[in-house]
Amino acid sequence: MHHFDPSTEIQDYLVFGEYGDVNPSITDSSTYTFLSPEKMKELFDHEVEGCFLYSRHWNPTNKYLADALARLEDSEAAIVTGSGMAAIVCSVLQVCSAGDEVISSRTIYGGTYAFFKNLLPRFGINVKFVNTLDLDAVKKSITSKTKIIYCESVSNPLLEIADLPKLSELANAHNIKLMVDNTFSPIFISPIHLGAHIVIHSLTKFINGTSDCVAGCVCSSREFINQMMDINSGTAMLLGPVLDSHRAASILKNLHSLHIRIEKHSKNAIYLAENFEKLGLKVYYPGLPSHNGHRLLKELMNDGFGFGGMLAIDAGDEKTADAFMKKMQDAKVGYLAVSLGYFKTLFSSPGHSTSSEIPKEEQVKMGLSEGLVRISIGLDNNIHKTFERIKKCLAEVGLLKS
Ligand code: PLP
Repeated sequence: MHHFDPSTEIQDYLVFGEYGDVNPSITDSSTYTFLSPEKMKELFDHEVEGCFLYSRHWNPTNKYLADALARLEDSEAAIVTGSGMAAIVCSVLQVCSAGDEVISSRTIYGGTYAFFKNLLPRFGINVKFVNTLDLDAVKKSITSKTKIIYCESVSNPLLEIADLPKLSELANAHNIKLMVDNTFSPIFISPIHLGAHIVIHSLTKFINGTSDCVAGCVCSSREFINQMMDINSGTAMLLGPVLDSHRAASILKNLHSLHIRIEKHSKNAIYLAENFEKLGLKVYYPGLPSHNGHRLLKELMNDGFGFGGMLAIDAGDEKTADAFMKKMQDAKVGYLAVSLGYFKTLFSSPGHSTSSEIPKEEQVKMGLSEGLVRISIGLDNNIHKTFERIKKCLAEVGLLKS
């Protein structure tokens, strides 16, 4: 376990608004005035601290949120984007040119998989999908063209744990960037501390936590963030993934309660996972000793936030999974919906939704069953009652043995 405490870093992040307002004023402008043409020219040449040019580049509200996220991940710098996908696409395209290669974990979010498989080859960038838990397989895939090793710290949807220190060693030995999607494990895994070079988040999920917007971020070295924001060659400037400042302001407010929420999500999730296992179900939850990543996660995680709010149950087949989810929605356990990190419980069947971009034979190879139900556990105050409700649903669809 690590004793780095990102929540204390955020706690120390005090921003004084324009009028001393405790929530900094929202910058409601696309463009900014200059007192002289010379000053404007200077800003086109290089960054000037505290000066803003145009809101697709930087705006003060987005900067407040980006600075807070840099504290969360303990990175030198960060940028915010209009979606998690924008953060991924812009980071990858900043690093890779035609002819380059990416080594990616095969268990990643379906949208990222589709981008890697279907779009990147159109730009001459090839992606090799490997089992990144197998370090030898990663090593064997590295060539002189490899620019990125890509994985999720806790993978979607099987919750595999990436051995970030070992992947980082490999990356460093070959001058490759280790890029990590930390969406499933904000605050309890700090990939930069474990050797990652670029960390991305879909802020849409736990970090915002209210399922009312789509947003993303990239946390990395100041040099890399400056490259991404370069007026003439930065992907985050030229592909236009800007986040609206009103949203940046609301996400910043939610970020300050992330530590409390993750602790509660984790507490509820481990309670359910342990009890599901006792019922004889096949459960994937990295907090359970039966999970293949449990020991590694215990070594890598920050102290005090638990093992996260995501778990999966294998219902065996698609029909049973569908019936189970329908029952859970009817019993007010939560919503049949994609996405995660909401204060209510959300569930979906990844094989037919968020991971459907992954071909069937690949899904079988990675152990993604037709009947897998991914559950993002909510902030329920009475989780015992929730468990009793779910148990009734399980019984009704024939998933309980006795
Ligand atoms: N990464 C992971 C692990 C996700 O689950 C998602 C979800 O959609 C994304 C990235 C993409 O983020 P967004 O939907 O904010 O573009």
